[in-house]
Amino acid sequence: MAASKSLLDSLKKPEPTNFRMTDFRRELHLRHKREEHAKKEKLRALQESKYVSRYAITIDTSRARSNCDVLRMSIKELGFKEYPFGRKDNCCDVHWHACHFEENPEVFGGKVNKFPGMSEICSKMTLFRCLDIMRDLFPTDYDFYPRTWYLPAQFHEFSCEIRKMHERRVKPKPTFIIKPDTGAQGDGIYLLREPNEYSSLSGKCHVAQEYMSNVYLIDKFKFDFRIYVLLKSLEPLEFYICQEGLARFSTLPYENPTNKNIHESFMHLTNYSLNKRSSTFNRSDRDDEGSKRTLTSVLRRIAMNGHDSNKVWKSIERIVCKTIVAIVPEMKVEYQAAIPPGKTGPSCFQVLGFDILLLQNLKPILLEINASPSLSLDSEQEVSPGVFEYVLSPKDEEVKYPLIRDTLLHVVPIDKLKYFRKKKKQRLLKKLKASTSQKGKRPDPPVKQRTSIVIIKADESDEEKREVNVTQQMSEMHMDVDSHGDGTARDVNSDDERESNIKSDTELDEEVDNYFETKLRESCLKQLYPAIYDEECERYRILERVAGLFIFFLGIRGSLRIGPTGFRTFARKCRLNRKGMTNASVDIMYIDLQRRWDHMNPERTSGSGIKSIGLCYQGFLDACIEIARRKFYAPTKIEMLENLVDHCELNLNLRDNDLANNLPRLHFRRLGLQYRQGSMYAMPRRVIDQMTEETTIEDLLKAHEKKLRQPSREDIEAFLRKSRRMIYQPSSGSRVISVTKSPDSE
Ligand code: ADP
Repeated sequence: MAASKSLLDSLKKPEPTNFRMTDFRRELHLRHKREEHAKKEKLRALQESKYVSRYAITIDTSRARSNCDVLRMSIKELGFKEYPFGRKDNCCDVHWHACHFEENPEVFGGKVNKFPGMSEICSKMTLFRCLDIMRDLFPTDYDFYPRTWYLPAQFHEFSCEIRKMHERRVKPKPTFIIKPDTGAQGDGIYLLREPNEYSSLSGKCHVAQEYMSNVYLIDKFKFDFRIYVLLKSLEPLEFYICQEGLARFSTLPYENPTNKNIHESFMHLTNYSLNKRSSTFNRSDRDDEGSKRTLTSVLRRIAMNGHDSNKVWKSIERIVCKTIVAIVPEMKVEYQAAIPPGKTGPSCFQVLGFDILLLQNLKPILLEINASPSLSLDSEQEVSPGVFEYVLSPKDEEVKYPLIRDTLLHVVPIDKLKYFRKKKKQRLLKKLKASTSQKGKRPDPPVKQRTSIVIIKADESDEEKREVNVTQQMSEMHMDVDSHGDGTARDVNSDDERESNIKSDTELDEEVDNYFETKLRESCLKQLYPAIYDEECERYRILERVAGLFIFFLGIRGSLRIGPTGFRTFARKCRLNRKGMTNASVDIMYIDLQRRWDHMNPERTSGSGIKSIGLCYQGFLDACIEIARRKFYAPTKIEMLENLVDHCELNLNLRDNDLANNLPRLHFRRLGLQYRQGSMYAMPRRVIDQMTEETTIEDLLKAHEKKLRQPSREDIEAFLRKSRRMIYQPSSGSRVISVTKSPDSE
């Protein structure tokens, strides 16, 4: 009875509420789902890694947008593996982004085709500011871009300059071009002759530039060049120029600007995106005709007109080098902000588009750099009145396809590339041997001419495409076999020959090495730095050392601006107080410059779009120039700055950290002497001549000590001259206060 009662009681017990049960079930269900999903993901990743062999070179094109066509063609030709929807684990060798580095923040390895903050650096204001700084330090070398004012901040200076020109009655009447800071494709650009024609209503920042009216004309049309440059790496600096480019023509015959024609954009602007809308746009397919031509055809035309086109090309190369060297310090600052030291991140490379105008005297003028130059291969064409269609543009293909193909060849991991090619070759040789021994018949005679480009027509079926590739691979293989002999086709069917076709590993290695050497030699990309302009550009790279100091004192990792404490620490640690700088003067300088640069750069943010507070790099550079002018007097600005940077690095003991990079310069500094590229060497000539890559500092010290025992008059004079310069005080006229040894001298 009692038992049945308790049973009844238990039955009467309230059941758990419906709500709680559902909650619990939902939780269970979700957990189950999550586990299933994780399992599936694991399986997918496993399958991915199974299908993609270890040595396949993988390219993520999921964010390539308009660059996809040209990229896909190049990937196909090179036999790489494309991931059009990206890879789950984000582990591709190359990630191709259409616009910014920050497009996929989940990438922690491989390479990305954009540098952090590059679109900011290539915006007109930042670019021309970087160039202005260089012009200030090297006035004669940086004269390849128009005079620039930054509006609205410098509106007063700009209008004063126009007024002065009017007063001087400059002929022809000066014209200026106004461009929005972050504009592209000719958007928002206009010409003006009076300052009051400038409209600041949009609230945007602009640059105002001297309008270059005396331009070189071809067939009476104005044109500019689009030069492609591959910036392969920042540390160490390495960049290439593409030997083919484009020339974009205006579509109305050019006339000097007058009040009447000043608004004719088809006459004064050469942007393709603008001129293609003109009724007179010439779409000729011939290289040397039409409103878009190849760079080489225009250079040929210039040569035919009796001018030295090689000289023009050399000047363009120099402009590219000087411009890149000018923006590298900014790039380094941005780079450390996006990928602070210690954080894993991808390495970067970038294809840049330089717009260059040619003056009547054939002097090239830099107009701008495009961080994301158009890589599309199609152009708009009017098939019937009002009806437009996109068609493949042969000129774009001729220029952009080799550019991207060779860019990929340069940036993918070379070891993987070699391994990949070797495996491919081994497979083909095996296949060939098997097929010839099976059928007992000769293979088709090899194709003698190796096609470097596989053109895949839109209407080809997949099978046909595969066949094209296989035939090409076979012909390549034959050619490689033949390349050892006289170049003629050989009978690969004979037993001896067949045996010799199965090559040893070392033979294959050698062949693959040769293959890449020739591929890179035949590349349309020519290395400018360090191969050709290393020495010439060395002296312009002083600002990278200033950027190094700035990064050193940033304080917060990943920041773009230095705070007041950071700036004070800079002054203290670099012992600027010994040079007579008080804490108060350091603080005043900081506040003054921070305000000035906030006013100058109201729109500037970091690459990730965050606006931080403090003194930006350009402000810090201004501070360094000011301190150098006050406390490290020397005959030229660059020498003053060098003295300051030497002093700071010496006090921070930075010199030994970058020993490997700056070996020659460090030898000099360690000896308490100054290093000047190509000009003043305080070091005895004999010692310099003996210097090799292997020379250690100790060797040099010994050599110098020997020399110091019997110093020549010349050496003593040089040394005294240098010491005087270090303590020369501009405030006390030209009087030398005292002659002491500089702190770092032996
Ligand atoms: P965007 O980024 O909008 O293309 P650009 O700086 O390239 O702006 O200028 C557009 C066009 O204007 C150039 O292709 C060139 O033809 C013309 N242009 C720009 N600056 C000057 C200048 N200083 N002198 C003469 N023409 C110029």
